[in-house]
Amino acid sequence: MQTERIHKLSYVNADLPGFLHHLEHSYINRRVGAYIATVNPEIGYAAAKDSSYCNVLSSADFILPDGIGVVMMSKLTNSRLKSRIAGYDVFINLLKIANDKKKRVFLYGAKKEVNQAVVDRISSEYPNISVVGYSDGYAKDKEAVAKRIAKAKPDMVFVALGYPHQERFIYEYKHLFPQAIAIGLGGSFDVFSGTVKRAPGWLIRLNLEWLYRLVTNPSRWKRMINIPKYAFTVLKEERVQKQSYYPEQVKEPQNKSMHS
Ligand code: UDP
Repeated sequence: MQTERIHKLSYVNADLPGFLHHLEHSYINRRVGAYIATVNPEIGYAAAKDSSYCNVLSSADFILPDGIGVVMMSKLTNSRLKSRIAGYDVFINLLKIANDKKKRVFLYGAKKEVNQAVVDRISSEYPNISVVGYSDGYAKDKEAVAKRIAKAKPDMVFVALGYPHQERFIYEYKHLFPQAIAIGLGGSFDVFSGTVKRAPGWLIRLNLEWLYRLVTNPSRWKRMINIPKYAFTVLKEERVQKQSYYPEQVKEPQNKSMHS
């Protein structure tokens, strides 16, 4: 799978069907596990500020550009990501694959009633999926949840705790469920359960999903301040890299006088 690097993280450079095709044929069909991180500008900024979180993300098998801001930054830094790949779309498609192939899934995250609503919807709309376990995202003992996942032996683990908790959880415990596709999904359970509405399709196509989330949940503005901060950090780093490279190219030959 081709990747493009933006500020220390290597993002999958594919569209949604291309990525799913690769995941299905090279991982799911062969029962090979994978850790998938879905990274938006806010998460990219958090990684830029915290090297331990950056390491947690870097260890993912796939980092998906889950935000138009990441794709835009790639254009500004000449890394040319083809497309945004939204975590929610991957979730819905993985459910289809899981249903077709009679897979086992574990659902971890969100409030108790939201988590239960996700379990109920999957049980009624995807009858071939076995939900082998679930837990809300507010249990204190994360290790106990990880052990339950290990025991349940799922093919897919959906972790919707929000960042950085979901990535840290997968990073810390994925050795307990090495056969599973484990993906961090942010607020996807809220949307899937109908608790929160996703932006209408036409707004998503206009790349304005972020604006819809801001207008419908104005308290997010504090978090969204991190989007321009992310842009600034990436561009600054890019400039520093170019500057430190440039002098090497124009270095004067030493001992000029020897040749004159
Ligand atoms: N959440 C959780 N446990 C926590 C904190 C948050 O399960 O300790 C859930 C929360 O209920 C919500 C999701 O994580 O369902 C985070 O949603 P948010 O919209 O913040 O995620 P984003 O998509 O913006 O990353």
